[in-house]
This record gives sequence, C-alpha cells and structure tokens, in this order.
Amino acid sequence: MPAPKRRVVVAGASLAGVRTARALRDRGFDGEVVLVGAEDHLPYDRPPLSKKILAGQVSLDEIQLLSHDEADALDLELRLGCRASALDPARRTLALDTGEQLRYDDLVVATGSAAKMPPGWEAYAGVHVLRTADDALALRSALAGAPRVAVAGGGFIGCEVASTARALGCDVTVIEPLAAPMARVLGDATALDLAGIPLDAGVRLRCGVAVERLEGGERVERVCLTDGSVVPADVVVVGIGARPVTDWLSGSGVAVADGVLCDEHCATSVPGVYAAGDVARWRNPLFGREMRIEHWTNATEQGAFVARTILEGRQTGGYAPVPFVWSDQHGVKLQIAGVPDPSDRGRIVEGSVTERRFVALYEREERLAAVLAVNSPRSMLTYRRRLAQPTAGEAPASGRLAARPSA
Ligand SMILES: Cc1cc2nc3c(=O)[nH]c(=O)nc-3n(C[C@H](O)[C@H](O)[C@H](O)COP(=O)(O)OP(=O)(O)OC[C@H]3O[C@@H](n4cnc5c(N)ncnc54)[C@H](O)[C@@H]3O)c2cc1C
Repeated sequence: MPAPKRRVVVAGASLAGVRTARALRDRGFDGEVVLVGAEDHLPYDRPPLSKKILAGQVSLDEIQLLSHDEADALDLELRLGCRASALDPARRTLALDTGEQLRYDDLVVATGSAAKMPPGWEAYAGVHVLRTADDALALRSALAGAPRVAVAGGGFIGCEVASTARALGCDVTVIEPLAAPMARVLGDATALDLAGIPLDAGVRLRCGVAVERLEGGERVERVCLTDGSVVPADVVVVGIGARPVTDWLSGSGVAVADGVLCDEHCATSVPGVYAAGDVARWRNPLFGREMRIEHWTNATEQGAFVARTILEGRQTGGYAPVPFVWSDQHGVKLQIAGVPDPSDRGRIVEGSVTERRFVALYEREERLAAVLAVNSPRSMLTYRRRLAQPTAGEAPASGRLAARPSA
C-alpha cells in the first residue's frame, strides 16, 4: 500500500488560511490540503463588510477569496460549516464538531478573531457586532429606513460603520472613551486632528465618556453613558475590539496568551503546529518584541510565510513584517505603517490637516517608528520601504511601542 500523502490541515477557512493553502500549491506542494471553516460561506474578504457590503454596493459573491472551481483546480478539500473543536498533538489529529478526527502532518491555526460583546447586551434586539458576512447582512437590513445609530467604540471598525451608516442617511453617534476616535492607535493629538472628518460628515461624537449600560424593552432604545447622559438609539453597533479565537485549543498543549504564542518562525509550542493571521502572537524580529496584528496585510503575508516554513523549514530572519493597515472613512483613505506610540504626536511632513491630505511621522529616538498617510498612498509606499529597513522599527528603550496594534 502506498504511504499516505503528507497532509496539511488548516483550521479556519480564513484569509490567512486561504493564503496558506494557495502558497503551498504555488510552491509545488502535491500533498493533501484541507481547509476547515466554521462558517457556511465560501471564504471571503472582511474589509468590504464595513464598507461596500454594508452600503449595499457589492454582493458576497464579489468578495469571495476562493470559489468551488478554484478549490477544485488547486485540489483543496473544503470542510465548511464545521468547527475545529480539539487538537491531539500526540496522535496528530484534529477533532471536528461533527465528531470526525482529521489526521494531519502539519496544522495551521488560522481561526482569526471574534468581536467582543459585553455581557447582557446581546439580549436586546437591535444590538449588532460586525465580524462576519452574516453580521454585515443583518446590520445592512437594520440600517434600512435610516434609524438612529449609536456606535459603541471609535476604533477603525466603529468609525467605518459610522461612515457607511451616515452615507446611508442614518443619524449616527459614536461613543469613544478616549479623547477622539482612533486615539488608541494614533494618540490623542493626531486623532483630534482627524475628528473633523466625521464631524463634517454629520456624525455626532461623544468622546471621553463610556457606555454604562443599554436600556430598552425587547429592542434597545437608548445608550446610557457614564456621565449620566443618554443617546437614543434604534440600532447599537458594538465596536469595542476583538479577541483571538483560541478556546478550542484548551488542553492541547499549544501555548496561548491573548493569541497563539509562536516563535519568530510562526511555529507554536507544539511540533508541526503553526499559526497565522489575527490569532497569532509571534515575536517580530524587526521590532524585537511580540505582536498580534489584526490587519488584512498581516493575515496574507503570515499565511504565505507559514506555507514556506512548512515546506522549506525555518527561514533566515524569521517573519519580520512592518504592520500595515488602511481604513476608508467619509471618502478619506487612512493608512498606517509601523506601530505609532499613542503618547506621541505625528509630525506632519507633507500636506495639512485642513487639506485632508497629509503624511505624519512618528519618531522615537530619531528613528522612524510609524507613518500615518491621509489620502497620500504614493508617499506611504516610500515610507513603508524605509520602515522595513532593520534599524527603522527597532523597539525604543522606553518599551512604549508595546501598545498593541489592532484593526
Ligand atoms: C468589518 C471588518 C473590516 C475590516 N477592514 C479592514 C481594513 O480596512 N483594513 C485592514 O487592514 N484590515 C481590516 N480588517 C481586518 C482583517 O479583515 C482581518 O485582519 C483579517 O480578516 C484576519 O484574517 P484571519 O485569516 O486571521 O481570520 P478571520 O478573517 O477572522 O477568519 C477566521 C475564520 O476562522 C473561522 N473559525 C473560527 N473558529 C473556528 C474553528 N474552531 N474551526 C474552524 N473555523 C473557525 C471563523 O469563522 C472565520 O471564518 C477588517 C475586519 C473586519 C471584521
């Protein structure tokens, strides 16, 4: 009997998972590749969920990462609508919630992250998160008829939802405990500079105050804030961050601490098990510290890196990317490369805030640590190259760069 073919199993039919599978085939891997995905949908791209999908401008078919035909052509086995539920590294098997046990030689954890929801909030009708295609479709129908929308959390996703909802004619209020939306990543000063963008679009901002509780009957009716004020709302969107999906790994021996812990090569504490995308926390040699990044570019690059490591072994230099994220809000494109220290102000070197076109540099000890480009994609290209040079992104002595980047 011929020996069984080498089999790579990817837990998470996600962006990182699809990228891993494609890269394995691009590199000539002729073993078996199985993608296990909890959602019923074919793998899809998430950035459009808060933008064109929510706006009703594109359909789910248009954001697919892989069709059935492509999966067949690449000889990928898709196991959709079932969850990885446990891992047995000694027997090299992955248990599914269907009761099956999948044998693997190499396993890639690409289960991404899940939206956080404070306890009890989900009991109200009208309360939404935005992480999956189904979330986006549910929120899209909730926005029909231009309701009053309160967005809890002024991070990237909250700001994008506010932008799309406002463009659909909704009355929108963003509630953000820090001084301005996106201040957690950009710092107060730069975030305050950018607050004019949503304000000019007619979004109400309630900053420096948090949500204390929701109130209503069966449906949510109002958001009560910690300063005693109340925001009436028909729809509440909770955009308070995401947590890595690692619960299913408990008891497996794979080390987890706010993400799957990996070394510089994206290998976990268990032989033959790797992680990529939002779920992975690895040591970035370029910055000399651990990172977990919830950005599209990282999921694609890390997926490809893991595929190469599986086939060729450890690569010189390890996985050393410059974090990069973009966001589209009210017709403005924001791009951030590197890891801004939120206690710094970005120094504007091109354009101006009033023009809504500028480049701001975050520097530490005379080194470039991060760049914010507002409607300046060409300049961003140049700065990204500079940041990728080994000395540019080194962690400063203060260690403040340890602020965690997230999408
Ligand atoms: C609304 C939205 C807008 C975004 N916009 C931007 C943007 O503009 N720019 C940017 O840089 N980034 C953006 N991002 C972030 C980017 O989409 C993510 O970083 C990226 O999708 C992460 O990919 P991933 O492969 O790690 O996992 P995910 O995309 O999270 O996919 C993980 C998959 O694994 C599945 N899964 C979970 N548990 C299991 C299990 N036990 N078994 C099997 N399958 C499982 C999940 O159902 C999911 O399908 C956005 C994200 C969202 C949600």
